[in-house]
Amino acid sequence: MRQTGLAQSLSYPIRLPDSAQANALRLLDVSREVINALVLALWPQLDEFGKQADGPAYKQVEALLSSPIPHGHRQFRCEAEQAGRILRTQAARKKHFALILPILSQGMIQPQLEKRPAGKNRKAIREALADLREAGEDGGNAVELQSLIEQACNFYLKNGCFPATYEEMQAIPVQQIAQLPYAGDDGPALGQSYRMSIDLGQQRVLLALRFPDSQGNWSRTWREKPMTLSLPDPVIHRLRAGEVLAPTLREIQETDGTRYAVLDFIVNVPVPLPAAMDRIQYVLGFDWGVRVLVTATVVDLEGHQVSRPFFLDTGPFDGWQARTRQQIDLLKAKIAKLEAQRDSFPGGDSRREPSIKKLAFLRLELNRCWRKYEARNTDLAHLAANVLLLLAEALGCSLIAGESLKSLKSSGRGRDAKRRWRNWRNNSQVRGELWRVLRYKCHLTGIRLEWQQPRKTSHMCPHCGQAAQTYRSPEHLDHVEAWGAWLCCASCGWNGSRDYAASLNIARLGVTFITHYLTTNRSYHASIADTAVKPLSYIGSGSALRLPPMVPRSHLLHAGKIYLNGWRNAVKLHSSYVTETMLRLCG
Ligand SMILES: [Zn+2]
Repeated sequence: MRQTGLAQSLSYPIRLPDSAQANALRLLDVSREVINALVLALWPQLDEFGKQADGPAYKQVEALLSSPIPHGHRQFRCEAEQAGRILRTQAARKKHFALILPILSQGMIQPQLEKRPAGKNRKAIREALADLREAGEDGGNAVELQSLIEQACNFYLKNGCFPATYEEMQAIPVQQIAQLPYAGDDGPALGQSYRMSIDLGQQRVLLALRFPDSQGNWSRTWREKPMTLSLPDPVIHRLRAGEVLAPTLREIQETDGTRYAVLDFIVNVPVPLPAAMDRIQYVLGFDWGVRVLVTATVVDLEGHQVSRPFFLDTGPFDGWQARTRQQIDLLKAKIAKLEAQRDSFPGGDSRREPSIKKLAFLRLELNRCWRKYEARNTDLAHLAANVLLLLAEALGCSLIAGESLKSLKSSGRGRDAKRRWRNWRNNSQVRGELWRVLRYKCHLTGIRLEWQQPRKTSHMCPHCGQAAQTYRSPEHLDHVEAWGAWLCCASCGWNGSRDYAASLNIARLGVTFITHYLTTNRSYHASIADTAVKPLSYIGSGSALRLPPMVPRSHLLHAGKIYLNGWRNAVKLHSSYVTETMLRLCG
């Protein structure tokens, strides 16, 4: 691995021992109060925090005000660090809000009709967003811009007008769940609010935290009895290559009300240089689909397709998520009904009690559903990113080319508009997360990741480079369907799934990106219609693949499917190229 000055921070949450919990939670409660007071006090000066995005955030806070309570300067700095980070995030959102403010229009709101309440016009929002996003970004902001527009529309639905300023629609972001970064202190050996020493041989860390007692007096003897935390193997492995940074103390709240403190143990690890452009031989291209979340293929720089397609199918998973969403909607309706029932009696009336009891239960249940839903989306994003990296490594690709998130294309063929929207929302969340995860994982492994222009990639023949039509299926070639799942080229006869064609086209764009860079030393994201984008020579099934299968063909799995671990067959990777080696790696 070639080392560089580049580094990436990895965070590992470690639960504090039971004996330390009470003190740690008390510390977090006090910190949260101070942090929230700082955020409230500095909210009118939000723009100040947009001026600087990196370096210690506490310095920005300290420049504007001083500690509201005399509880130790370094303790205050750590709290100021957290307040400053919150305000920086908000200031960045405010800058994005300035981008969407001019395009907010009444067309984004669907007026109330007799049988339909007022709502958001998704199509108008999508179109406005598409115009807004400029070429030359990976679209990573798309999800953020979208959420800001939605937030502004919600404001409209409540108030009858769009917000004139960001602050008008954004509640002041006070912390509900406490978090205290020790980055404002003087390090593990000299810290005045924490001390930490690591014993690699014993695989443990000794940690002492300064905390207040139940009367609010800060301990003077806090350094004397450090707690012992054992470090799991992956952390030890990272520590040997990297360096430890100031940790963060954080509270976890369970839905049943219990809470406990964890230490985010943060290790800065060196990362390899990204693969040199002139040494890249193979490119992995992937396309987002709807039923098939990701389709991936590999091509080489001479324009040969060197792998069969891999499909990551999430059909049953989407079904689970749709059902959980339904459950969420149902619970929300029940809660609204019970709240109305409760409020039909005056305060203090005993007839309110039954509704109040049921409400407590339903809210827990709703909370649980949301967490399940979000955790699944995150898990799927990680899993898909891991699969792409695994394929890239196994097939020797140093560049992954993916469609820019800008497209976030509507997902075609749901049975009705509502279902389509659900699918789309699901998919856009997973995609945003997948891109984010993939980007940092690529960074950690030295594989390059480049976004590509998605336009027309699913209506272009990858073999001869001519525009091609899509159809519902190979059996329906008499009727062209704009978003059909099957592509068939009238010029050369190539045919295959539309996602497969798109993944090949995106890989071709990746190849063009490299060849263009090698001749001009400039980065350029070609579009698929560009004449510089070379057609692929087709290596049909039956002819030899350039990359030999990793195990003899007789060992190919039955039907070439891998059901991915822990997902009860809901997510599967399939290809005629799936091998036992991959199965082992995925397992
Ligand atoms: Zn063709």
